[in-house]
Amino acid sequence: MSHVFARHSKTDLRRASIGKGTYLYDADGKEYFDGSGGAAVSCLGHGDPDVIAAIQAQVAQLAYAHTSFFTSEPAEELADRLVAEAPGALDKVYFVSGGSEAVEAALKLARQYFVEIGQPERRHFVARRQSYHGNTLGALATGGNVWRKQAFAPIMVETSLISPCYAYRGQDEGESAFDYGQRVANELEEELQRLGPETVIGFVAEPVVGATLGAVPPVEGYFKRIREICDQYGILLILDEVMCGMGRTGTLFAHEQEGITADIVTIAKGLGAGYQPIGAMMCTDSIHQAIAEGSGFFQHGHTYIGHPTACAAGNAVLKKLTGGLVQRCAVMGEKLQSALQSEFGQHPHIGDVRGRGLFRGLEIVEDRATKKPFDPAKGINKTIKQTAMSNGLACYPMGGTVDGRQGDHVLLAPPFILEDHHIDEIVTKLKTTFDVVL
Ligand code: PLP
Repeated sequence: MSHVFARHSKTDLRRASIGKGTYLYDADGKEYFDGSGGAAVSCLGHGDPDVIAAIQAQVAQLAYAHTSFFTSEPAEELADRLVAEAPGALDKVYFVSGGSEAVEAALKLARQYFVEIGQPERRHFVARRQSYHGNTLGALATGGNVWRKQAFAPIMVETSLISPCYAYRGQDEGESAFDYGQRVANELEEELQRLGPETVIGFVAEPVVGATLGAVPPVEGYFKRIREICDQYGILLILDEVMCGMGRTGTLFAHEQEGITADIVTIAKGLGAGYQPIGAMMCTDSIHQAIAEGSGFFQHGHTYIGHPTACAAGNAVLKKLTGGLVQRCAVMGEKLQSALQSEFGQHPHIGDVRGRGLFRGLEIVEDRATKKPFDPAKGINKTIKQTAMSNGLACYPMGGTVDGRQGDHVLLAPPFILEDHHIDEIVTKLKTTFDVVL
């Protein structure tokens, strides 16, 4: 029995041994196509020689220096690169070690910003049901997963949750997608009025919802309306791109496709591509300036922020992403969508095939016509995961445990380097899996 504290103590996990390109191999040599890049992490696939070389060179030169004494060349370079690529006025980058840390830093920065500018009465966040922003207490509080939150509710910040933009289940009959988007965006305004807008810090949302709903993009106009409301009431728009960012949806930042700008953006997974644990929080110059000209000190920090080796990996990854891989993701994503649509578009138990770029979701239903979900007690998503693993496909099924969520889905987020034949492999292995489970 291993002494590793496994998250699922009742599940026997295979031991991963080798990663090569788009494949993982377990200790017995069994091959798995990495259909979800872990959890939308491995955008470059495994064993990328350039990223490995960049990490090795950095470790040899300077593995680590504490940020209260020093900055470092890889951290400065990575911040410059990110700012150069980012939409809007995102101008400062705060490096952390992962997604939850990035969200936690964003929440604290947002609160401190209002304290610095003399609005300490702002203390509420508004977020959305059926969302996930991380597992640390602040990030968990802004998520909508009741099951994850239950045990910790008494020790968490209270956050208001409004509806997600989830047209497949939310749009009324006869209502246009645009009108639906405006209706659910207007819930933010209603919630601000209920709380007293002068008490609210910001609104937190994923531009394309990942783990909890399965690659659900917003409808057109939704985020424009959200931005308008944020501006009207002076609250910050905090976009969580931990999963959907770094090219995953076909543009480096997912919210580029919404034609809006954000005040704070969090990124992680694809930034280190699995080679190093790294995340970042980006904010506008005006937020940074408020602190720089105020107390002069962001009251936050961890030992490993701005880790030079992690930043060196991030630079190597970002060079590849901006050197053509993001465009490749967009092209291959369309091919994956067509292949999924043509194989499963009429499947009696697949209600929706959706997503952007190489971030795709399949909604599993008992009845396609009525959208009736399977009974959560059946644990369909768990059986899909196990069966797909036996068929040599690592994919990311979820469902049944999120507030108000009906049904199950499969999330696909393969590495951007995949070839046409890999798309066939994903579809074939999924079909074999669904033939057994559904
Ligand atoms: N935010 C989003 C949108 C996520 O999907 C996740 C992880 O899945 C997180 C935050 C938390 O990231 P991490 O697991 O790196 O702490």
